Parts: sequence; structure tokens; C-alpha cells
Amino acid sequence: MSDPIIPFPRRLRTTRCTLAVIIYGLAVRCPAPDTYRAVFLEHISQVMHVMVLGAGITGVTTAWYLKQAGFEVSVIDRQPQAGQETSFANGGQISVSHPEPWANPAAPFLALRWLGRDDAPLRFSPQASLDQWRWALSFLHECLPWRTQRNTEAIAALAIHSQRELHRVRAAAGIGNDYDAREQGILHLFFSVRDFAHAPARAEHLMRLGIDVRVCSAAECLAIEPALAALAPTLAGGLHAPGDENGDAMRFTSALAKVLARDGVQFHYQTTIERLTHTGGLIDGVEVRDSEGRAGTLTANAYVVCMGSFSPLIVHSLGERLPIYPVKGYSITAPVADPARAPQVSLTDESRRIVCSRLGDRLRIAGTAELNGFDLTIDPARGRAILDWARTRLPGAIDPAQAKLWTGLRPATPSNLPIIGKGRGVNLWYNTGHGTLGWTLACGSAEILAGLMHGRAPTVPFPVRRP
Ligand SMILES: Cc1cc2nc3c(=O)[nH]c(=O)nc-3n(C[C@H](O)[C@H](O)[C@H](O)COP(=O)(O)OP(=O)(O)OC[C@H]3O[C@@H](n4cnc5c(N)ncnc54)[C@H](O)[C@@H]3O)c2cc1C
Repeated sequence: MSDPIIPFPRRLRTTRCTLAVIIYGLAVRCPAPDTYRAVFLEHISQVMHVMVLGAGITGVTTAWYLKQAGFEVSVIDRQPQAGQETSFANGGQISVSHPEPWANPAAPFLALRWLGRDDAPLRFSPQASLDQWRWALSFLHECLPWRTQRNTEAIAALAIHSQRELHRVRAAAGIGNDYDAREQGILHLFFSVRDFAHAPARAEHLMRLGIDVRVCSAAECLAIEPALAALAPTLAGGLHAPGDENGDAMRFTSALAKVLARDGVQFHYQTTIERLTHTGGLIDGVEVRDSEGRAGTLTANAYVVCMGSFSPLIVHSLGERLPIYPVKGYSITAPVADPARAPQVSLTDESRRIVCSRLGDRLRIAGTAELNGFDLTIDPARGRAILDWARTRLPGAIDPAQAKLWTGLRPATPSNLPIIGKGRGVNLWYNTGHGTLGWTLACGSAEILAGLMHGRAPTVPFPVRRP
């Protein structure tokens, strides 16, 4: 831990801190004209200390926007560095062209079709867990056509905003290409004529949402990405989203965290968050434990929960029930063996629900979803399914002997909409539950959250949380 933790019984509650929280809370709510309120909040934010809980892609981008807004910021994480859990080895896609949530009218039938298959994209392992069943029921509700429609529109708006913000953060932080970024679009591939038949309607829908996509024949797909040559006999066609991109989320998170640390944001690494303490509606500290087992309390004026799948656990004792459930996924990262056979354009195999991104001289292939609690055990059959995909779809592209297998827990809400906004109490906020799209949605979500903390309404039509 970089800094000594304040001994447990001692609480840093100076008059300045407490007054700041109260005045800030009143200012955010007061009906004064926006210009006066903005000027006032600008000044008060300079004496507000915000603590971000979690240093994954969402926590670090949140810290960035809060710092830009003038807050004093610190970050807590149990890992020795930023981006070491779910943000570590995801599919790498900034996938604006995939706003459709998992919960859609076809999902229950697909789940039944895949039941019992080792290589099924989705596996549900029923447990004696009320949280799991509550989540599954809620997921079914989100499969109703009008819910899917509403969720798709909200995700699309946030994703478009987020990609713009990603470019702004990258430029302002001077990150450049430290994270193997590649702006060559995403090609969605269909291997069944029946699935491909829906592509024109899907493209039209995406275009209406402001996302640039084009339906491509199999030959056009091969022209866009020559590394797909081996697929010519089996490929039905594709959807090309030229504006999409990809990059290594962990490297981006780590680079941004370094910039923030240089600029004065304090990172408490190897510090496990155990509990939030509160007095009435005011969170007044975070009980933590360092890597040597020493307990302590860290304090601030406001707290933002960005703990991925673990977010519900920390706020449960406050009476908050966040609808987030861990959905396990797998990825392999392998060195490119033959550059001519390894795609430059990011791919989404729509039939197998597998994505593939070129990250410098590595290829990342990711997919599968398991509802199995917080278990991170690697199932060799699932790993083999992804390696088999690489062998059959991209023969000779990677060196499978050097492939690194990884699992992560997507912090999934039933709707796939992240939870951005206010928690119960004056000084608790959320930016969490980004599910399948945390890398895609991170910068936009963090910008919205920092705006809300400054009393500003979101600039895009997204349903933020206001309890
Ligand atoms: C296989 C797979 C493929 C994916 N592919 C893509 C993709 O291509 N594109 C995309 O946009 N998204 C993708 N995602 C989703 C994306 O990776 C996640 O949505 C995102 O990483 C979530 O980020 P986060 O910061 O919320 O969570 P995390 O990265 O998990 O960060 C949470 C942080 O909180 C810390 N923490 C938790 N509990 C505690 C505690 N008690 N004390 C201290 N610290 C704690 C953890 O150490 C961690 O650093 C994929 C996910 C998976 C699993």
C-alpha cells in the first residue's frame, strides 16, 4: 500500500469535509440557474475528495473524468496494479456496432438449444442462489421485444458517445498507441444462410441508431480481410462496421492510471475493501485491509463504486440490491505465427459468439458465457473450444502451444445497461455493471458520472440511476 491507512477507530471528519458534503449535496439539488450552479460546483469540487472503489477500466476512467472536473481523487484496488481482473484480457473490441443486449426475444430459445453442449456459447449452471435466480428471471423480462428495443437504443447512444470520449481521453492523456489500438473496424461474420438473411434488417436498424454498417457478400468480406481466405467455402456473408476499433483494455487502463498517478491521484493498491461505514445517509469511510493483513479505514467526501462483479457485495449491507451477476467468459492470447493469416480487422463470429482482435503481434480470441457464480476455475473443454475455433477459422494464424488461457467475470446486469448514477445516501455513486461492453462503454459512462456529480444532466439519452 502506497500510504499508511488511518488507524481504524480514527475517522477523518474535519469540519471542512463534512460541510463540503452537505453544501455540495444541496448545490446539486438546488433549483438555481445552471450557470450559477456550475460556477459554485466548480469551486466546491476543489475541496471535495472522491474515492473510487476499483481500478478496472471503469474505475480508472472514472478517476480521470473526476480529476478533470477538479475533484481531489484517490483509488482503491486489491490488485498490485490497475486492470488486473475482468479488464485484463477481454476481447479488445470497441464494439459500437453491437448494441443489441444478450437479453433479446431469441435468447431463451437459443439457451434451450445450447443446453448440455460443452462448446455452447452460453451455459447456465443452476445454483441454490437467490441472486442467480432473481437475475435469471429479470433477464427473461428484458427479453421482451420492447425492453430489448429500449435497451439497444440506450446502449447505442452510450457507445457512440463513449467512442468519441475515448478519442478525447487518449489525446488529452497523451496515451497514443500504448495499448495496441487498431482502427480498422469490426467485421461480423455469418456462417449460416439463415442468420445472414437477417443482416440487412439489422444493418438498417443500426444505421437508424447512427451506427455506420454495411452488408457484405462473402467475397466482399474476403476483400476487407484477406486473412479469411480459408473460410471462403463456409462463409455466408458479413456486416462491416468500418468505424469500430480494438485495443488492449488492460494496457489502456494501466497507461491511464500511470498518467493519473503522475498528476496527483493517489492509488491504494493491494488494499482489499471490506465494508463501507455510514452514519445515517452519509458514507463516512471504507474499511480496508492491506496485503499484510492490517486493517484500517480510508475516508473521503464521496465514494464511487466501480468494483465490477463485486459491486453488489459491498453495498448489500447498506440495503442496496444491485442487479449485477458475474458471467464468466474465456479468452486466449497467442503470438501471431503467420502475419498474413492473422486478421488485422477485428472479427465477431455471429454463429459461435466468438470475437477476435489483433493486438500488435498477438491475437486475442474471446467468448463463451457461464452463469456459475464467482467461480474462476478454467474448464479445459471451454478453452479447447476457443482454440478449436482458431484452428478451424484461422488455420496457421497463431502458435497454439504458446496460447495463454484466461477467464474473467463480466459484471452483467439483466439488460446489459450499466448502472451509472446515484446510490442511496448523499455521497454514494455508481459506475458499474458494464457486462459484455465495459471497454466499449467505459469513457462515456465515466464522463456521464462525473457530469452527474457536477450537477449536469447526461448529454446522451441514457437512463441514469436516481434513487
Ligand atoms: C471473455 C470476455 C470478453 C470481453 N470482451 C469485451 C470486448 O471485446 N469489448 C468490451 O467492450 N467488453 C468486453 N468484455 C467486458 C469487459 O471486459 C468488462 O465489462 C469490463 O472489464 C468491466 O470493467 P470493470 O472496471 O467494471 O471491472 P473490473 O475490471 O473487474 O474492475 C473491478 C476492480 O475492482 C477491484 N475489486 C473488486 N472487489 C474488490 C475489493 N473487495 N477490494 C478491492 N478491490 C476490489 C478488482 O480488483 C478490479 O480491479 C469482455 C469480458 C469478458 C470476460
